[in-house]
Amino acid sequence: MSSQGRRHFLGNALGALGLPLVAEPALALASKLNPADPQAAALGYVEIASKVDTKRFASYKPGQNCANCALIRLQYGFYRPCQLFPKNLVSAKGWCSAWAKVP
Ligand code: SF4
Repeated sequence: MSSQGRRHFLGNALGALGLPLVAEPALALASKLNPADPQAAALGYVEIASKVDTKRFASYKPGQNCANCALIRLQYGFYRPCQLFPKNLVSAKGWCSAWAKVP
């Protein structure tokens, strides 16, 4: 198996377990973002997008989630790094009010 094939296989295997394969080892050890974290709470972060407080965050549209946000940094795994929260991992099914459409 080539190194690219091995990496793809490993990425899929870790992704199936909800673990990110990342080039930055520190991110692999990062903890999940707590929705109660002050910055996360201010942005209305939730682990399940359908639980967004739509009265407070009217910009939310069904179908938006961290997995399809322009700020997510990996395309696999249940918890992934996000450019906005560099010390934590966010839920792929989550959402916050900084959600941005992929150009
Ligand atoms: Fe999720 Fe995007 Fe908000 Fe990051 S910026 S927490 S990926 S919606």
